[in-house]
Amino acid sequence: MSNNSAAPLRVAKFGGTSVADFDAMNRSADIILANPAVRLVVLSASAGVTNVLVALSEGNEAERRAYYLDEIRRIQYSIIDRLAEQTVIREEIDRMIDNIAMLAEAAGLATSLALTDELVSHGELMSTLLFVEVLRQRGVAAAWFDVRKVMRTNDQFGRAEPDSHMLKAQTRTLLLPRLESELVITQGFIGSEAKGRTTTLGRGGSDYTAALLGEALEAGRIDIWTDVPGIYTTDPRVVPQAKRIDEISFEEAAEMATFGAKILHPATLLPAVRSAIPVFVGSSKDPGAGGTLVYNHTDNPPLFRALALRRRQTLLTLHSLNMLHARGFLAEVFNILARHAISVDLITTSEVSVALTMDTTGSTTTGASLLTQALLTELSSLCRVEVEEDLALVALIGNKLSQACGVGKEVFGVLDPFNIRLICYGASSHNLCLLVPGGDAEQVVRTLHGALFD
Ligand code: ASP
Ligand code: MG
Repeated sequence: MSNNSAAPLRVAKFGGTSVADFDAMNRSADIILANPAVRLVVLSASAGVTNVLVALSEGNEAERRAYYLDEIRRIQYSIIDRLAEQTVIREEIDRMIDNIAMLAEAAGLATSLALTDELVSHGELMSTLLFVEVLRQRGVAAAWFDVRKVMRTNDQFGRAEPDSHMLKAQTRTLLLPRLESELVITQGFIGSEAKGRTTTLGRGGSDYTAALLGEALEAGRIDIWTDVPGIYTTDPRVVPQAKRIDEISFEEAAEMATFGAKILHPATLLPAVRSAIPVFVGSSKDPGAGGTLVYNHTDNPPLFRALALRRRQTLLTLHSLNMLHARGFLAEVFNILARHAISVDLITTSEVSVALTMDTTGSTTTGASLLTQALLTELSSLCRVEVEEDLALVALIGNKLSQACGVGKEVFGVLDPFNIRLICYGASSHNLCLLVPGGDAEQVVRTLHGALFD
């Protein structure tokens, strides 16, 4: 379809703060209506709703459940109360909340990941129903679409993986034809497995949905509207002098996201990268402020691009005298970690020890801890395990870092007041990573930003 319309199709995704209340929804509607190329809109749940739904899925006493349900009603009713016509949509939302109440009661008896996904999916179901109504009452013909019809995933509830072939086929037959004549509003984050049960893609999964649908539809661009006007050299809350980056390559942006920049879910970028679809990130609160365009490549990328900070890192140090001149120790360690579905993040080794951090990006929908007793027990049978918590990972993102001279001096020259617990440099030309005590992290970032970016 994109080929015979004036501009290539654009997918726009709005995060929780962009659909948080009536005014936010109208600002987001303004953005959509200002650009006729936007035919498909992907929404998160209204800000705060998913958190409450996750809490309900954990199983609660009746009184606590009632409190959470009131909270959801408060958030969603505040939108309905501002609409001219309220009866029909209020009935729809009430039906959703009745469903939530029923599922939450079931969770009070026995929790399960499948039940959790069914429950939390209501956040996106409600925000999309409300948004369609906001648009309709502004005279815009918008259609509500249940993304579960096309977003086929495996049955790994809480962190389901979409089947992109199935998605493409379903999207082409069920969704694409509708975009010809209608503006379609659909849900991020949720999907369904082969038996039709609802799944979720993990917290923050709506960006991933937008990228997957953009890929399936061969979109010309994917717009991610959030509450910050683009990607910055570092978090402006930590360093007020941080500068907006106008254009950045996927590789750099993925590095930033991987290392804790909250702006994009790292996996989000994959479908867009492999299909070379540019992704724009901007603020729905201030669309005029512009944003960042993430693209396949940029001209003359700088040596130092950005600093990312990831808190609450756990360092595991494994010591074993068996490692001395031995083969297979690391293989054994990695086997155990793989069996526990742990992806290793930073790693350094010496002759008799290995230190590593665990990748916690995109944790499960319930945010369960990765470092389980079972894992520790298994590792301890192999070697002595030391656990250090509350460290922070500071990542310097750049280009050709490992080919340049003097990087070490520029970076470490200003960091002499700090204890640096671990350094990773050399594997990727795009990053240099440091592990520092959690309490020093912000000061380390400020110091480095001052030296490298001001
Ligand atoms: N509503 C989901 C969450 O809060 C998905 C998203 O917003 O991307 O994690
Ligand atoms: Mg989000």
